[in-house]
Amino acid sequence: MAEPYASAGSVLEIDLGALVANWRQLRDLHGQGRDTAAVLKADGYGLGASRVASALYKAGCRHIFTAHLMEAVAIRHSAPDAMLSVLHGLGPGEERDFIAHRLVPALGSLAEIEAWGRAAAGLGQPLPALLHIDTGMNRTGLSPEALARLIAEPTRLQGIDLRYVMTHLVSADIPGAPINLQQARRFAAVAAHFPTAQRCFANSSGLFLGPDFASDLARPGAALYGINPIPDAPNPMRAVARLSARIMQIRDIPAGESVGYDRQWVATRPSRIATLPIGYADGYHRALSGKAAVAFGGQLCPVVGRISMDLITVDVTDCPAAVLGAWMEVIGPTIPPERLARLAGTNAYEILTSLGRRFHRVYLEA
Ligand SMILES: *Cc1c(COP(=O)(O)O)cnc(C)c1O
Repeated sequence: MAEPYASAGSVLEIDLGALVANWRQLRDLHGQGRDTAAVLKADGYGLGASRVASALYKAGCRHIFTAHLMEAVAIRHSAPDAMLSVLHGLGPGEERDFIAHRLVPALGSLAEIEAWGRAAAGLGQPLPALLHIDTGMNRTGLSPEALARLIAEPTRLQGIDLRYVMTHLVSADIPGAPINLQQARRFAAVAAHFPTAQRCFANSSGLFLGPDFASDLARPGAALYGINPIPDAPNPMRAVARLSARIMQIRDIPAGESVGYDRQWVATRPSRIATLPIGYADGYHRALSGKAAVAFGGQLCPVVGRISMDLITVDVTDCPAAVLGAWMEVIGPTIPPERLARLAGTNAYEILTSLGRRFHRVYLEA
């Protein structure tokens, strides 16, 4: 890590070039004549939705999804004429904001359909929407009962410009899971009832499941940010996030001394301990205590003792080059998000979306 960060204690580098390359790779994988959106919920999986939206928009991405209305409003200016869609759909009283910012709700209940139709009638012009169908998640989207009613009474969609029918995969990251093909079949059967609408189907992992999972519009999120969409195989995506922290203190302790809260780690030999200014308040989960490692020049150094709110302590006894002021890799080529996730008992999604607000953020332009 070089001079420009001289005053910072931790740096999160976000490689927008890699992000754009990932989007292009997914688009090419999805195939010619098909569109590929980008999912930017949770502040672009923790990496900064505005910057991510601008970079992808510049690269030609014209379909963006967020979870919440406010997330979509926040990035509207970064993607002026993109289809900006809200996965949580239309909440009570949100019609005005959706219309003002030209947002497209993913309607997931009859009540939302009714409210959006009423808004269209009030406006005197059709309003765009996606129809979210539940094919197995049992979380959001039209239930089979609601769907049956809608199919029986298609006038419920009056005033709604139905752009896409969408559904979401339960186990896309498990290629052999029988539910994947069941959902693809259910989705095809449902979509046939809405012949004028296009289809919107695969997430990141779904794009790797083969032609049965292709559609008019794919919705990858994780893979854009470098998360491996095929967990049992080498990661085909480029890394986007790199987190480094600088050694702010070094001390040599004799055997028998403990480090940190509650004496969770006791030195069994004379040890050199490096202190780094990052902790659980920065998304470095406390559950990683006693399990995590940081890296220096490709060499792993164990994080020892309890992870504090703002600090971690690292055993650098076997890494003499890790001196005061040196930068250590917290997330990067040696420790990708997946590796940290395994140690913390979570997934790489949670590692990225937990990343804190206190890092010096550096965006490497596409
Ligand atoms: C989060 C989400 C996606 C993106 O999923 P990834 O696994 O991150 O690619 C797509 N669709 C819906 C409905 C989602 O909630």
